[in-house]
Amino acid sequence: MGKYTLPELPYAYDALEPHIDAKTMEIHHTKHHQKYTDTLNGALEKCSSEIQNKDILEILSDLSKVPDDVRGAINFNGGGFDNHRLFWHNMKPNGGGEPGGAVADAINSSFGSFADFKEKFSSTTVVIQGSGWGWLVYNPSTSKVEYKSMPNQTSPRTEGLVPLLGCDVWEHAYYLKYQNKRPDYIAAWWNVVNWDEVNNRLSKAK
Ligand code: MN
Repeated sequence: MGKYTLPELPYAYDALEPHIDAKTMEIHHTKHHQKYTDTLNGALEKCSSEIQNKDILEILSDLSKVPDDVRGAINFNGGGFDNHRLFWHNMKPNGGGEPGGAVADAINSSFGSFADFKEKFSSTTVVIQGSGWGWLVYNPSTSKVEYKSMPNQTSPRTEGLVPLLGCDVWEHAYYLKYQNKRPDYIAAWWNVVNWDEVNNRLSKAK
């Protein structure tokens, strides 16, 4: 048994309908997230016990400590493991709307308004080439929130950024329902954003 196991979803596969369909959620969780988890465990087995004993978040924050021959695998699968466990919890049934609390203030400070943030996040995430993620992140060096798009499964943590809200735009996240219409998927995804969780992450990041 590997170090990491697939985390449970915090809701049923059909809970985000009609915005994200049950079949997509089931395959995404049981096949894709499982694969990142299993492959991460396999890559860690090739590392020294010193690295194996570190938490994956610590490993991702300094990949230079990881041996050359497994660095790519840990970047990809460690990122995939962590990104998806964040993703499941930054969505919820009957979510969406606008954030309150510290997240609202941080977004207004960095982007001008929630509408401007939403427009920037959507339009920049839509045009990610190939597979990747759009993120709202907290930057500890500036104490501000930022938008960041990341390729493939590379975690924002590899750049010292704390992920607050992620939108997975790999085709496996939307193709069954939305086919090539990534903009329609992102527009629907806003309806399931869990702003309470984003506020929790921001308060922990500060
Ligand atoms: Mn995914």
